[in-house]
Amino acid sequence: MENGSLKKWRFQGNKALTTSSGFTVRAVLDSLRENLNVNDPRPTIPLGHGDPSAFPCFRTATEAEDAIVDAIRSAKYNHYPPTAGLLPARRAVAEYLNRDLPYKLSPDDVFLTLGCIQAIEVILTSLTHPGANILFPRPGFPYYESLAAHIHLEVRHFDLLPEKGWEVDLDAVEALVDENTVAMVIVNPGNPCGSVYTRQHLQKDAEIYLKTARNLGILVIADEVYEHLAFGSTPYVPMGVFGSIVPVVTLGSISKRWIVPGWRLGWVIADSIKGFLNISSDPITFVQGALPQILEKTKEGFFSKIIDILRKDSDIGYDKITEIPCITCPNKPEGGMFMMVKLNVSLLEGINDDMDFALQLAKEESVVVLPGIAVGMKNWLRVTFAIDPSMLEEGFERMKSFCQRHAKKQ
Ligand SMILES: *Cc1c(COP(=O)(O)O)cnc(C)c1O
Repeated sequence: MENGSLKKWRFQGNKALTTSSGFTVRAVLDSLRENLNVNDPRPTIPLGHGDPSAFPCFRTATEAEDAIVDAIRSAKYNHYPPTAGLLPARRAVAEYLNRDLPYKLSPDDVFLTLGCIQAIEVILTSLTHPGANILFPRPGFPYYESLAAHIHLEVRHFDLLPEKGWEVDLDAVEALVDENTVAMVIVNPGNPCGSVYTRQHLQKDAEIYLKTARNLGILVIADEVYEHLAFGSTPYVPMGVFGSIVPVVTLGSISKRWIVPGWRLGWVIADSIKGFLNISSDPITFVQGALPQILEKTKEGFFSKIIDILRKDSDIGYDKITEIPCITCPNKPEGGMFMMVKLNVSLLEGINDDMDFALQLAKEESVVVLPGIAVGMKNWLRVTFAIDPSMLEEGFERMKSFCQRHAKKQ
């Protein structure tokens, strides 16, 4: 090329790729990162997104690392993957999930995907038809919103109730359902709320289907990407336990429990996955090759170590918040990697809302948190506690001095 640069072209962009509210988590976090003060000698504390893989205390299990190495070295997995996934990998997922179910999944109920993100894409794309609508929780996981906008799927929101441990507002769900409703989404353990639903609450969610649906054919999509990451008093129960009263499609991945979001291996569990088979997903063949070993060989000690760190982290977060007057946490997290905290801007000088708070906090204290608006709740903040515990303490200390500095003078 004459001047050695790429030829310019006019990029207009697909507006549907930003969410209906105009926010994606990545876009918001990018703008916060731009606001960081490069001259601050202190390390930036990332409480905005949940990826603890960078911290040595969250390193994945050696059994999982060995499984990947063995799979590569075997030279058996250099080929294109088959559409639904390798049979031994699908069988291993079925057997892994069967440990917690009152019935038996077969490998034919398992469709492997590139992480849970693509599991969401596969199921939502398969369900969409002109006029269809879907029920999402608020606050929620923003990828659902951007994808629905992209594929022109109408979204209706039901609230999660902070005063009730972030349970689903069941009356709202009943009022939203109509004959064009294809599914409701439940994220358990919760992102962004850190909630773990009781068996009783999940059963009520399932019964909504029977009560409202006059058999409308609605599905419950259970996003269980944080499966087994429960460290409070409520044990984790998969929605699939109620698979005999309601059609459940379960989504999951190894990203969170094994702390390997970069390995991009997830799944959709449904009894009629043949409907998806025209969608090509193709998770990396050698990761599929390693999956049986990862699921079968990882020792309990790894899982309990991770649970112990997350419990310690959530204790630190919850305690530190009580020392900061302008933020409150209505429910101590019992699972997952996030907590929702409520911001009282009336106690602060020169800070108008959650976005403002997050921007100034990034600039002055090099601490990144996600403004609640990005998950559907203005003047709340989503904070991840899944980082190195001492760094988490430091993050909350900085947040505390920030709030003291900006407190309204009485
Ligand atoms: C992280 C996350 C996902 C995506 O999982 P990947 O396996 O990393 O693609 C999906 N849903 C929720 C609620 C999540 O927090």
